Amino acid sequence: MLRNDAYRTTVLAVFLATATFLTSAFRPAPERPFTDDMDRSIHPGDDFYRYSNGGWMKTATIPAGQTTFDNRAALTERANRQVRSLIEGAASAHSAPGSITQKVGDYYTSFVDQHAIAAKGMKPLASEMAAIAAIHDKTSLSAYLGGTLNSEVDGLTSNADHVLGVWINQGLEDAEHNLPHLWQGGLGLPDRDHYLDSSTQMTELRAKYRAHIAAMLKLAGVGDSDQRAGRVLALETEIARAFAPDADAADVFKQNNPWKRTDFNLKAPGMDWDAYFKSAGLAGQTDFLVWQRSAVTGVAALVAHKSIDDWQDYLRLHLLDHYAAVLPKAVADEHFAFFGRVLSGATEASSRESLAIAATNGALPQAVAQLYTQRHFPPDAKARAEAMAADLIAAFHARISNLTWMSTPTKQKALAKLAACKVFIGYPDAWIDYSALDVLRDDAFGNMRRAEAFNRLRNLARLKQSVDPIDWPLHVQAPGAVIMFSPNAEFFSAAILQPPYFDAQGDTASNYGSAGAGMAHEISHSFDELGNIYDAQGRLDRWWSDADRDAYHALGAKLAAQLDKDCPFTDACVKGKQVLKESIADLAGLVVAHDAYVASLKGKPDPVIGGLTGEQRFFLAFAQRWRRLQSEAALRKQIATDTHLPPEPRSDSVRNVDAWYEVFQVPPGARLYLKPEDRAKIW
Ligand SMILES: [Zn+2]
Repeated sequence: MLRNDAYRTTVLAVFLATATFLTSAFRPAPERPFTDDMDRSIHPGDDFYRYSNGGWMKTATIPAGQTTFDNRAALTERANRQVRSLIEGAASAHSAPGSITQKVGDYYTSFVDQHAIAAKGMKPLASEMAAIAAIHDKTSLSAYLGGTLNSEVDGLTSNADHVLGVWINQGLEDAEHNLPHLWQGGLGLPDRDHYLDSSTQMTELRAKYRAHIAAMLKLAGVGDSDQRAGRVLALETEIARAFAPDADAADVFKQNNPWKRTDFNLKAPGMDWDAYFKSAGLAGQTDFLVWQRSAVTGVAALVAHKSIDDWQDYLRLHLLDHYAAVLPKAVADEHFAFFGRVLSGATEASSRESLAIAATNGALPQAVAQLYTQRHFPPDAKARAEAMAADLIAAFHARISNLTWMSTPTKQKALAKLAACKVFIGYPDAWIDYSALDVLRDDAFGNMRRAEAFNRLRNLARLKQSVDPIDWPLHVQAPGAVIMFSPNAEFFSAAILQPPYFDAQGDTASNYGSAGAGMAHEISHSFDELGNIYDAQGRLDRWWSDADRDAYHALGAKLAAQLDKDCPFTDACVKGKQVLKESIADLAGLVVAHDAYVASLKGKPDPVIGGLTGEQRFFLAFAQRWRRLQSEAALRKQIATDTHLPPEPRSDSVRNVDAWYEVFQVPPGARLYLKPEDRAKIW
C-alpha cells in the first residue's frame, strides 16, 4: 500500500522527488559555503526565508526551458548526471560477459543503436503478431490477454499498461501472505475522463488519438485502418466506462475486495478465466484482491461481447505503442507525435541517449543501483543516515508518549506501530540477482522483452515468499522516498541522501535540519490522518478514537487559521485547509528532527561554524531546503492547487517552534513573532 503525496490523498506512498532521467541540461552543483547563500543584513525574526536564502536568490537562475529551480531540481540534476556517467562508462567498458556492468552497458548500447533497430524492421514483432492473428474465440482471446497481465504496477498505478495489472503485496486484512492485487488498465489515454468527458478539448484530443490509432495500425500493415481505428477507440471507451471513478479509486476501503478464484466465473462472466490465469502464470492461485471490481467485470463482459476483430486491432495497437522505443523510427516517431507532442505538450523528443538511460534504469534498476551505490553511497554514508533515522524514531517515541490529544490506548497502538515500522535507507541488503537475464549488445527489442519476462517472473515468485518488504518500491539511483502503509515501512533512496539534501561528509546540524526534517515528515504520515487507517502490520484498521480525531482537528484548525493569514500576493493568500495535512507533517518533521539533533549531541555543544551554532545551522538548513525560484504564475498556481505550502511560508514553519525563538533571539514585535499561546503544537 503506497501513498503518493503529489498526486492522491488516500492511496498510499510518497515520492519526495522523482527523477525522470530525461532532462539533459548539465549544471554543476554549486560548491560554496552555506553562509554565502544567506543575507545576514536581514534579522532572522523578520524574514527568516531571506535571511537564510537571500545570497542564493541573488545568484541562482532558473534553467532555460524551466519555470522553477529549487533543491529538488538540483538533486535530480545531480543524480541524472551521476547515473548518466555510470551507464555511459559501462557502455564503453567492455566488461566480462554476464557481469552487471556488461548488462547495463549493453542494454544502453543496444537501445541507442538505431541502425541495428532499423535493420531488423518489424521482424521482432512477427511471433507476437502471429499470436494475435491466431486468436479465434473467447478462450484464445482470454489466453492471450492473460499473457499480457502486467506486473509492473504498484499501489499508485491508476491505469495498468494492459487490460489488467497485478501487484504482489500483502493483503489488506491478511498481513501474513502476499496476494495478487488486480488493477484496472488497458487505456491508451491516461484515464476514464479522457474518454467520457464531452468538452471540446477532450473531443479534439480523442480525434487526434483516433488518428494515432489509424497511423499505428497502418504501420502494422493493417488495411482499412481509419475504420478500424474508430472501432478500437469504441472498445477503449467501453473499457474506460468500466473503470472506477476517481473518488472510488482513491478509497482503499472500496478497493478491499477479496475474491476467491471461483468468484471470477460467477461475478465476472465472459472471460475464460481458466485460460486467462493459466497463461498469466497464476493457474494455482486461489485468493486475489480485486481493487476495482467494475474494471474486472467490465473487461470480462467485453471479451464476450466485442468482436474478435476489434480485440485483435486493439492488441496490435498496444503492442506497437508498448514497444515503440525499440522499433523502427517511423513507429517511435508516431508514438512521440501523439504521446509526447499532443498529450504531454513536449516540443521535441528527448535525446536517444536520455531515453536509453531511462530504459536501462527501468529494465535493470538494481544493476544500475549497484554501480551507483559503489560510487556515490558507500556503507559509511548509509551508516550515518541510518544513525540519523534511529535518532528520529527515538524522538518520535518521546513525542508520541507525551501527546495531549491522543488517548492512552491510542498512544499504545501508535507506539506499537512505531516499533514495527521498518525504515530502509539507501539501498537493499540483498540485490536482485540478474544472472538469469541475458542482455545482448545488438538486440534492443529482445533485451526489453527478456527484461519484462524476468521482472514478471520475479514479481509472481513473491506470491510464495514472506511479506517482508524485501522488494524496494523505488529506484535507489533516483531521488525519492516512499511510505508503505502496508506493509509498515519507509524507504529513502541513496540518490535523495546526497547534497544539498544530505551530506554524508558534512555538518550534522544541517543534515538533521534538511534530510532529517524531511524523513520525519514522511514518518509522521504513518500516524496522522493518512496513516491512522493502517495498523502496525499494515492491515486496514481505524485505530484513532473519535475523541482523538476531534482533538487533532481542533489543533489543526488553529494552524489552518494561522496559515490563512499568509498572503504571498495582495489578492492571493495561502489556503490553510488545503495545505493543512502537509503543513502538520512539516511541523512534525521540524520538531522531531530538532529533538533528534539535540539528542545526537549527547550533551556536548556542537562546534560553531561560520559564526553559527549547531541549532542555528539546523533551522537555517530547514529554511534553505525550501528555497525555490519560480515565476509568479507558478507561485500562483501552487497557492491555488498544491497541498504543500509555497517555499516562504513553508520555511516560516519555524515560527511555531519555541527553540527557534531562543537560538535566534527573536523578540516580540519581530515580523514572524508569535506569542507562545499562538504557536501551533500538534506533535
Ligand atoms: Zn507529506
